[in-house]
Amino acid sequence: MSDAPSTPSSPKSMDAIMALCKRRGFIYQASEIYGGINGFWDYGPLGAQMKKNLRDAWWQDMVMRPAWGRAGPGGQRVRCVPVETCIIQNPKVWEASGHLAGFADPMRKCPGCGHFVRADQYWETMAQWSEWLNSMIQGFETHTGKFDTETLLRWAKTKGKRAAPNLALVRNPEATLVALATRINGQPNVPPDLQELVRYLGTEQIAQTGLQEPCPRCGAPLGQPAPFKLMFETWSGITQSDDNKVYLRPETAQGVFVQFKNVADTTRVKMPFGIGNTGKSFRNEVTPRNYTYRSREFEQAELEFFCHPSESVEWYQFWRDFRMDWWKSIGLAGENLILREHAKDELSHYSQGTSDVEYRFPFTSPGFGELEGIAHRGDYDLKQHQEHSKVKLEYNDTERGEVLPNGGRRGERYLPHCIEPAAGLDRGVLALICEAYTKDDTRASPEFLKLHPRIAPIKAAVFPLMGKDGMPEVAEKLHTELNDKFWRLGAIELDEKQNIGKRYARMDEAGCPFCFTIDQDTLKDQTVTMRDRDTGGQQRMGLDKVAGFVGERLGSG
Ligand code: ATP
Repeated sequence: MSDAPSTPSSPKSMDAIMALCKRRGFIYQASEIYGGINGFWDYGPLGAQMKKNLRDAWWQDMVMRPAWGRAGPGGQRVRCVPVETCIIQNPKVWEASGHLAGFADPMRKCPGCGHFVRADQYWETMAQWSEWLNSMIQGFETHTGKFDTETLLRWAKTKGKRAAPNLALVRNPEATLVALATRINGQPNVPPDLQELVRYLGTEQIAQTGLQEPCPRCGAPLGQPAPFKLMFETWSGITQSDDNKVYLRPETAQGVFVQFKNVADTTRVKMPFGIGNTGKSFRNEVTPRNYTYRSREFEQAELEFFCHPSESVEWYQFWRDFRMDWWKSIGLAGENLILREHAKDELSHYSQGTSDVEYRFPFTSPGFGELEGIAHRGDYDLKQHQEHSKVKLEYNDTERGEVLPNGGRRGERYLPHCIEPAAGLDRGVLALICEAYTKDDTRASPEFLKLHPRIAPIKAAVFPLMGKDGMPEVAEKLHTELNDKFWRLGAIELDEKQNIGKRYARMDEAGCPFCFTIDQDTLKDQTVTMRDRDTGGQQRMGLDKVAGFVGERLGSG
C-alpha cells in the first residue's frame, strides 16, 4: 500500500492503523467471514459512531447553522436547507448530468491516485494539464528543448517528489535513467521525442513491462484502456430489460438539482441559499484501493449553494475558505492539510474555480489525496436538467430588477449559479483516524488516537479503581449522570474490568479524550481523578464538576 518514496517526515504505518481500526471496532472488511468483497467496508461500533459524529458535525455546520453563522459576501446571511433524495433516480437524470455518456468511454485508470484518463486523449491531457510534466520541462534547454540527465535527476530528487511521487524517475531515478541512456546510446542519431522520453521516465522495469505511459497526475503507469461503466446497474420492476434499467447514483448532488424547483417553490428560501444532501453513493471503481479511500460504496455530504451569477465568485471563495477552516476545526490542522486551487486549464469549461481540500494520507505521502472538492459549477447542472426535462428551472427573484414606482422591484428571472462543496465522509473518517493515530513507545498505551472531542466516538469513560468499598456504585452514578447529559453526542463508557493501566490504554486506542477514576479518596472527599488522553496527565476535580468539565470540552453545556 504505502510504497511512496521517502518523505519529509516518514509516513505512519497504514498496516498499524488498519490493525488498530479492526482491533477496536472502527472498520471491518464487508462480508469478512466469506473472504470479504473488494471495495466495500463496514463500520464497527466505534466507527459507526465516529462517522455519525462527522456527519452530524457537517449537518450542524453546513445546514443548521451554516458556516458557524459567519456572514457571507456583502454581509448576507447564509441560509441552507436539507433534502434526502433517492439512490435510484429516473435514468434521464444521469443522461442529463452526463454520467451515462461520460462513463462509457475507454478509460485508463491510474493505480496510484485513482485518476481516470480518456484513452484517446492521453497526450492531450498530458500536454494540457500534467503539472509534473510542465514542471519537468521547465528544466529543459529553452531554445533547443533538449534535456540532460543531470537536470532530470535533480528534478526527480527535488520538485519531482512533490509533483509526481509515483513516477518511475522519482521512485527509482538511477534505474530509469540507465534505461534511457541505453536507448540514447543505442540510436544516437534518433534522439527521443517528448512522448518517447515521457514513456521512458514512466517506466521502472522496461524488460518486464515494456514502455509505459505515466499518469498525468501522479506519474504511476496507467492501466490498459477499458470501456468503463462507472455506474452500477440494476432493474426496477420484475422484467430485467433495458427499458427497466436503473442506476445506483454515483453522487448525491444530482438529487439536489432535480429537486431545486420543488424546494424553491414549496419553502420560503430566498436566493442565495444552499441545499444539503448526504447519503450513499456508488461507483464501480476499477481498482478500489487504499482502505476506505477509494471504495465502491461510500457516503457523501454535498451542499449545492445557489446564488445570483454576479455574486458567484465571491460565494465560491467564501465556501472554499470555510471548508478548509471546518476540516481544521475538527482535528486536521497542520501541514498534512492543504487547499489546492486548480489551475485555469484544469477547470471544466463552465467553472470559474475549483479547489480541493487535500490530506496527506500515509499512502499518498509525500503527495496528497482529495478529501473534498469545492467547485464553482456555474449554471451548468440546472441548464442541463432544464434542457433534458423541458421544465423551466429559472428562479424568479423578486428582490432584484429595477425599482418600481410603488417601491417594489420588477423582479429578475435567472438560472442561479451553483457552488458545490462536495465532501466524502469515509475519506473524512480515514483522514481523521490517520491524523489522530499517534505512536509513543514510552506510554503504557504505545498507540493511541488523538481524536478531536467532537468527533471521538466515546466522549468519556468512568472507572471504579476497585470493585469494592462502594466504588462501583459511585462510578455507576457518575456514568448515569454523564450518559443522561451527553448521549446525544456519543458514548460514555463504564469499565470495571482489568487493571487501571489497561483500561486507560483501551480508551486511548478508542480515542476517548477523558477518563474519570473513582478511588478511595473519592469516598472521603468527593473528588475523582481526571486523566487526559493526550498528555497522560492527571488532575483531581470534584465529582460535581465532572459533567461541567466534559460539557465544556464538548462545546455543549
Ligand atoms: P477522485 O478524483 O479521488 O476519484 P472525485 O473528484 O471523483 O474523487 P467527487 O466526484 O468530487 O470525487 O466526489 C466528492 C467526494 O466524494 C470526494 O472528494 C471524496 O471524498 C468522495 N469520493 C469520491 N469517490 C470516492 C470513492 N470511490 N471512495 C470514497 N470516497 C469517494
